[in-house]
Amino acid sequence: MIDRIPQATAKRLPLYYRILQHLSSSGKKRISSSELSKVVQIDSATIRKDFSYLGALGRKGYGYDVDRLLSFLRETLDQDELTKVMLIGVGNLGTALLKYNFFKNNNTQIVRAYDNDRSKVGREIAGTAIHHLDDMLTDDNSDVPAAILTVPAGAAQSIADKLVLTGISGILNFTPVRLSVPEHIRVHHIDLAVELQALIYFLKNYPLEPNEGGDR
Ligand code: ATP
Repeated sequence: MIDRIPQATAKRLPLYYRILQHLSSSGKKRISSSELSKVVQIDSATIRKDFSYLGALGRKGYGYDVDRLLSFLRETLDQDELTKVMLIGVGNLGTALLKYNFFKNNNTQIVRAYDNDRSKVGREIAGTAIHHLDDMLTDDNSDVPAAILTVPAGAAQSIADKLVLTGISGILNFTPVRLSVPEHIRVHHIDLAVELQALIYFLKNYPLEPNEGGDR
């Protein structure tokens, strides 16, 4: 189903899901797109359009039924199916991500971590075992479709090459390196330093007027 949804919409779905879960657990039964717009900071026309792709249509004067929306989102996001992820590079950032371990999104879990530092291998962080990078191809990673890369830049490409051999489908790349991988592998790049620089640049040069949204 998610294939037929525009990518921009697909990217917003986890945010809607998280917010609606909060609203539902605080007892909220229905919400209008304009009310939700204030919470998620996305304009209400976009929200209505996004929800229409899910097959969820709001009713005039009523809005959306929160639990119904959640079940549409759950179905679309395959929330009931656990997606396994591995993490490579248990440094400061990798450790933080392991500790966070996406428990709040209960459909994703980092099941294994790799590092080449023997003092880290064999340890566990927040229940996730750290294996040596040399074991990545012999471990059974056939049911792990995604990897998080938090190694130093210099090691990124060679590890990506190795990841390709595990049969991975996607890499969340936290290194500043533009990875070269076969076309069928999706790489999402998160360069925190660049993101922060960009935010600061915008703050200085394009301060928002009240009621004006930014790029979300
Ligand atoms: P630390 O303080 O633990 O050294 P850091 O965040 O400063 O962490 P980095 O130098 O960015 O560390 O390295 C991140 C992690 O990647 C470290 O745990 C390091 O051992 C690991 N690492 C470095 N090179 C490789 C490699 N070639 N293969 C696997 N892991 C590697």
